Amino acid sequence: MRYAILADIHANLAAFQAVLDDIKAKGGADQIWCLGDVVGYGPDPHQCLELLQSYDHLCVAGNHDWAAVGKIDPVDFNPDAAAAARWTARQLTAEDIAYLENLPLTLSTDDFTLAHGSPRDPIWEYLLSSAAAKDSFRHFQSQYCLVGHSHVPLLFMLNAERDTCLAFGLPADIPLELGGRRLILNPGGVGQPRDGDPRAAYALYHADSRALYHYRIPYDIKTTQRKMLDLGLPYSLASRLSLGL
Ligand code: ZN
Repeated sequence: MRYAILADIHANLAAFQAVLDDIKAKGGADQIWCLGDVVGYGPDPHQCLELLQSYDHLCVAGNHDWAAVGKIDPVDFNPDAAAAARWTARQLTAEDIAYLENLPLTLSTDDFTLAHGSPRDPIWEYLLSSAAAKDSFRHFQSQYCLVGHSHVPLLFMLNAERDTCLAFGLPADIPLELGGRRLILNPGGVGQPRDGDPRAAYALYHADSRALYHYRIPYDIKTTQRKMLDLGLPYSLASRLSLGL
């Protein structure tokens, strides 16, 4: 079995489609595991929700998914993100809203726990430091945990004997044998990468060999940016896609 691990699609249909095409070119996946924030920021919230639901998939809720359906107040976002959240809310169908409202905070499947931010605080916490990640290992039971939210591909590895946690980058195209360690993994963001590389990021997990591959995929950034500006979404949100920040 093979699983595609996608986080933070953020209504960026061009990036999402490029990732789906790449998965297909690599032999396909049996299921998509989506780590939340399907919508928010980007120009195609309805289309991305429809496309995701056309695949066998699991999905957890992200902060932007909740903001789009009023489960959290966009006033907690920065002004541009709040403007995009209010715009997103106006684009959703009744089915989109029902789908987003019913997303779970966490899910367990195979040896993995899925959460958007962290297993401790699935909606809001960013796991960007080994100190924060170390604490998070106490908040899930499975061997591995998958998170998104920071849009930065990262691997956190717990050494229980030494009571330490180490953070690593996730180089593209190189197999990571998951092995017997406890790990927290972030595949990076599909629709709005923030690690300085503007290409879409995702991961494929090969369950038979228990190996995870991280990939970076070029997509038509200008198409997404033009759509955003035509629709009146904030310039800053379109501009950052070129930089991957
Ligand atoms: Zn996000």
